[in-house]
Amino acid sequence: MPQDSSRTISIKKYYSSLPNMLSKYERFARKDFFKGNTLSEYERWRAQARATLSELIGLDKMDRVALKPQLEETISLQGENEGIVRQKVLIQSEQDVWVPMYVLIPPVPDKPDSRKRKVFIAPPGHQGAGKYSIAGMREIPAVADAIKKYNYDYGLQLARRGFVVICPDCRGFGERRDEKKQGDAETDFLTSSCFHLAHMAEPMGETVIGMCAWDLMKIMDYIETQPDWDSANVSCLGFSGGGMQTLYFSALDERVKNVFISGYLYGFRDSLMILNGNCSCNYVPHLWEHFDMGDIASLIAPRNLMIQSGREDHLNGPRGLENVYEQVEIIKNVYRLYDREDFVIHDIREGGHCWHEDILETAIQKFGI
Ligand SMILES: [Zn+2]
Repeated sequence: MPQDSSRTISIKKYYSSLPNMLSKYERFARKDFFKGNTLSEYERWRAQARATLSELIGLDKMDRVALKPQLEETISLQGENEGIVRQKVLIQSEQDVWVPMYVLIPPVPDKPDSRKRKVFIAPPGHQGAGKYSIAGMREIPAVADAIKKYNYDYGLQLARRGFVVICPDCRGFGERRDEKKQGDAETDFLTSSCFHLAHMAEPMGETVIGMCAWDLMKIMDYIETQPDWDSANVSCLGFSGGGMQTLYFSALDERVKNVFISGYLYGFRDSLMILNGNCSCNYVPHLWEHFDMGDIASLIAPRNLMIQSGREDHLNGPRGLENVYEQVEIIKNVYRLYDREDFVIHDIREGGHCWHEDILETAIQKFGI
């Protein structure tokens, strides 16, 4: 619908800031990328880069508290998901900060062996009401639509494949929405207050990315308290904003052994500076001066990594997949030092911003999950 311009004047030339910002990006960005050639140089760089990244995202500000896990409900799913038990568990991640999460527990296989249950953490992205879409709660009509749009129920998809899956609300999503977005109207329910949270956090030296990464670390602590779960081989899978959380969490926490990032791996310049209308939760003060996204993902080496990109995903930026390939090449350069280049799977799918579960069988087999 054409916008009404009958009450304005026509501006023929704009004096915007983007050209200057792009020039500054060329001059000042990415000063701490990995410049070495050997494994020992990489491992030294990784230790320093993790320290820098932890400080930039505000992990030094986090409260250390007891988890105090609480089981709120246990439901046996019915129909095509019969056999899967869905627990609702709360853990405490900071002082007065609680993480509600669904834990999907599929039935023990017919021939039980002595191995412990394999666990996935599945953080949510935007516009899916947090854990409700990831856990596949199609009985909520608004959630059913979100699942259809993004194939958003990847937590349930993994549980159907026999994995224990933790589907948390991240900060600002689902039951964790802050005051501005609390309410049952569909627009409030599906969306999130991470935008508002970023405004509260950043002047305090914190970031939404840091808060989310910290909460996922606390979920990992919770996994380690479960005697029947294989805490030595935990995987994390996230799409979109869930991919963002998976990236930063896995870069900093080596307890994650298999990393699945979908719809969130591209260069900062194109995807977050030129596409500057993205949600505030993507932005970390001073981060781009130090690293590009491929540098951050390089911290995951030599662990198993699956990156999924949609060829037409607008979030790749104006140069499309070129902006992804450049970052994947940065990552593969580091994996080559370990002779594990093959354990970076770059899965390219046709179409836009959407999770594609077809890669799961291939990746699970290759990674030996
Ligand atoms: Zn956000």
